[in-house]
Parts: sequence; C-alpha cells; structure tokens
Amino acid sequence: APFTEHAPFQPNLDFLDCVARSGSAMFASIKPGIFSDSQLERIRDAYEYAARAHAGQRRKDGSAYVTHCIAAADISVDMGLDEDSIVAALLHDVIEDTPASHDMVAKRFGDTVADLVEGVTKLTRVQLVSKEEAQMESLRKMLMAMSKDIRVILIKIADRLHNMRTLGSMLPNKQYKIAGETLYIYAPIANRLGLNKIKTELEDLSFKYEHPEEYPTLTIRISGYAVLFNSLTKEQKLEVINRTYHGGLV
Ligand code: MN
Repeated sequence: APFTEHAPFQPNLDFLDCVARSGSAMFASIKPGIFSDSQLERIRDAYEYAARAHAGQRRKDGSAYVTHCIAAADISVDMGLDEDSIVAALLHDVIEDTPASHDMVAKRFGDTVADLVEGVTKLTRVQLVSKEEAQMESLRKMLMAMSKDIRVILIKIADRLHNMRTLGSMLPNKQYKIAGETLYIYAPIANRLGLNKIKTELEDLSFKYEHPEEYPTLTIRISGYAVLFNSLTKEQKLEVINRTYHGGLV
C-alpha cells in the first residue's frame, strides 16, 4: 500500500496563505499587554524579514520553510521569552540557510538579536558523534558554555521541539540520529532549566523514533493504565500512588 501518513504536497496550495496563517497563530498566542505596540511592530518586522529571506525554501514535507521559524517563535512565546528572543527565534535560521549575515541582522535588529541568532547557528553546527555517556555530559556542558546568553539555548530548544514534532517527514536514519541527540542532550538540558513540559514532550517524541516498534504498544499500555486509574475512587488512587511510591512498582 502507498505511504499515506502525509497528504501529498499540492503545489497549487496557497504557499503565502500558509505562511500568513502560521504568522497569525503566532501573533494570536502573544497575550495582550505583554509587549508594547512598537515591540509588536519589531516582531512583525522580523516575521516579514524571515519570510522574505526564506522565500522559496521548503521543508521535507513540502511546507514553506519559514513556517518552522514561526513555529519556533510560537514556542518561545509559550516559554514566556522576551521580545529579543522572539525576534531571534523568527530569524534563527537566516544566517545558516540564507544569504543574511550577522552584520545584516545586527544593522536591522541590533547586536543582541544578531548575537542570539549566531549563537543558535553555532549550536546547530555541533554534531553528535556517539552516545557514550561521558561524551554526552561534555557535549551538554559545551553547549551550555557556548550559550553565554541563556536565551540562545532556550531558542535552540524551541527549534528542536518543533523539529521533533515534525520528524515524521525525515528519512529514518536521520530520525534516529536526531531523536538520540534530543534524548541525550536536549531533554536533559530542558530538565535542568526547569522546562518540565518541554522535557517530557522531547523524551516522548525521542522514544517514538528511537524505538518505533515498542512505541505503539507502550503508548496503548500507558493510556490503558490512565483509563483504569481514572476509574478508581479517590482512596484507591491514593493507595496505588502509595504503593508505587514505596514499592517502585511501575
Ligand atoms: Mn531551525
């Protein structure tokens, strides 16, 4: 049977409309009152700059490349990051993937944003070689040290989370490599930074691609357990939690 997980790419699908829709969704997730009008204007300027810089580029699934940058910015909004971070998230791939340079970004958006984008670009260029624990630990330390400004690593985590959410369209060997890197490098960093929800999502998505055979049964087992658990009375729930806690029962 043909592979049907993704709808076939339709070239007549309105490319710009897609970009505009993800842009609107991102702006809609910014709560009113957080940023001034001039700050919002600057974010909009970055959005338009990114859309122009990535014009014509597509992701593996056929979508406009810039929708990935917008999604990373959207995740940064959810993380509660500041205006410079959201601007940098929108621009995070322009130095790596378009003719835009550090200087060009600095002229238009200032040195802070240009440095954030360059920092993310440097992290993107670091490649995982093996899964040896000592190497993982030193890689994690190196990435943290490279990010003198903590916002660099936060934007990188937003970038990685969106890449993990859309990993299905990559080739299996690439999925496996990115999933490993996520599980051993980025999920522990997210954990250390207190980003619990993101850490859990990164781990869950990594597991799905690292263990594609076990994932469906495990998910069913866990959701079955959740249904069962929810059907218990309050006393029974407490009893289960107590037993799990003291007996290491999982
Ligand atoms: Mn990216």
